[in-house]
Amino acid sequence: MLLLTPGPVQTRPETRAAMAVDIAPWDRDFGMEYIAIRERVRDLAGGIAGVHATLPLQGAGHFMVEAALRTFVPAGGRILVPCNGAYAERIIRLAREAGRDPVPMPVPDTRGVRGDEVAAALAADPTISHVGMVYSETGSGIINDPAEVGAAVRAAGRRLIVDAVSAFGALPFDLKAQPECDAVLFTSNKCIEGLPGIGFAICPMERARERAGKAGSWCFDLGDVLLHAERSGWGSFRFTPPVQALHAFGVAMDLYVAEGGQKARLARYTENMRVLRAGAERLGLRPYLDAAHQGPIILTLHQPDSPSFTLQGFVDALKRRGVLISNFFTTKTPTIRIGCIGAVTPDDMRGAVAAMGEVLAEMGVAPRVAA
Ligand SMILES: *Cc1c(COP(=O)(O)O)cnc(C)c1O
Repeated sequence: MLLLTPGPVQTRPETRAAMAVDIAPWDRDFGMEYIAIRERVRDLAGGIAGVHATLPLQGAGHFMVEAALRTFVPAGGRILVPCNGAYAERIIRLAREAGRDPVPMPVPDTRGVRGDEVAAALAADPTISHVGMVYSETGSGIINDPAEVGAAVRAAGRRLIVDAVSAFGALPFDLKAQPECDAVLFTSNKCIEGLPGIGFAICPMERARERAGKAGSWCFDLGDVLLHAERSGWGSFRFTPPVQALHAFGVAMDLYVAEGGQKARLARYTENMRVLRAGAERLGLRPYLDAAHQGPIILTLHQPDSPSFTLQGFVDALKRRGVLISNFFTTKTPTIRIGCIGAVTPDDMRGAVAAMGEVLAEMGVAPRVAA
């Protein structure tokens, strides 16, 4: 089965095979492995040894976002959230339920937010301490640029939290060039192509240290994750970790480096997207985003305006041909979402386009444009 979902993604056989072992998390050899993972992740984020630290948590990406909000935004504090998709809405909900005060900033869901828009919103409201942004908005496929938004946040003397869950490892990020950033967040199972189970925050250590104990939650306190590492060692855990997923993540990182790192991964995903988008257009499917605003992570297509089309029918028929895509959408109008990330190639995308063409014909959905 070819997984074209934007997380969990298709993984390499070597990565999956690494899961099939028993490991004691407190074993010294595994501790060394875990320390190495933390250092590699910090370096990949553009962090500096002794200044920035990788602070992992068991669980999903939402857990990381909640932990960063609780740790860095003071209780009752206000966080501006540029809102151009489903994952920004999730930051808002997580912040509100954690007792923080989210300030939604509407942006069209067909383009990225601009730095000048963020600067104006911050200038208008000095009570806002933070900006929470989504790097790659998995709801539609647009990219919000953290360097551009970060420059506005820095100039205004505020702090930034970046949900980079579907971007990290493929799109560039340089923490040392963004001193306004409290946390950049991602998980094991997106662009690094590991298995699900563990999330990562990369943070300035000084900030995490001064915020320890203020999260209103022991589990979600990234400051406490740092203090524990400093007290008990960087190879130690507070609670039982998904140790097999971590071990497999190390293998996924090896494969990532062997492929050529961030630039190579972005190049492959970009080519995946080019093949998929052009193929979908040839089939008469209309992309949700203009080419100029299309990111390389996820393609969103308008559902065909045909009485014989249903999303679940389309998904089921594709699955019978060995291609699995999401059976839901998060845009305001009905769409089809197809991921371009994971251990998949442009040839896989050509195969997926051929399968989509067969399915549309089978469903009796006429192409709008001749192939
Ligand atoms: C996948 C994703 C998440 C996290 O999803 P989980 O299901 O909690 O792992 C968060 N933000 C973005 C932008 C994502 O794409």
